[in-house]
Amino acid sequence: MAKIRDRKEYFKIYLQSPIVKQKRREAAKRYSHTLWGIEKIKSYRQSPEGIRKNELYLQSPEFKKSHKEAMKRYYNSPKGIATRRCYKQSLTGKLAVKRYKQSSGGKLHAIVDGFNRRLKTKDLTVEKIQMVYEDNIKKYGTLTCYLCKLPISFGKDNLEHKIPLCRGGNNDYNNLSVACQSCNCKKHHRTEEEYRKCLSG
Ligand SMILES: [Zn+2]
Repeated sequence: MAKIRDRKEYFKIYLQSPIVKQKRREAAKRYSHTLWGIEKIKSYRQSPEGIRKNELYLQSPEFKKSHKEAMKRYYNSPKGIATRRCYKQSLTGKLAVKRYKQSSGGKLHAIVDGFNRRLKTKDLTVEKIQMVYEDNIKKYGTLTCYLCKLPISFGKDNLEHKIPLCRGGNNDYNNLSVACQSCNCKKHHRTEEEYRKCLSG
């Protein structure tokens, strides 16, 4: 009897050693990738015990934290950006945007957006804009797009931010210029440098 108890004690100590723990972890990992391992995990997850454990895990702070980080990584990844763009262009996406704009949250969003826009243009004075336009005419002889260097026809001029406001640009004189409508559209949220690189490359 005593001998058996000794063996049990010994086994307990054996299981607690870091090397054995590590080895058991590795073995469990290997097992979880085998066919019967996958099958067993699947049936455990569908059992009441497994469902309960999973619910507890989903509510745990460590899951929420790791999930948030993973979502952030995915959001900024090329795949995430492409998926979002694809969804926005799809019919479901367009309908969802329309629904959101009509909802109370969407309306609030629009108000905040407008407020932010006004905040961004608050240091943009008429005198400054006039100076940008006058200097452009002085430099080129006629109102000319600073990007494609072509004269701009009447009403097709756009005040352009070399570094867009959304990219951290400001309304200073040095950041402003005049561009034609098509260049302004093509440049979009890119900086001047990025846009020129895009054209040459
Ligand atoms: Zn242009």
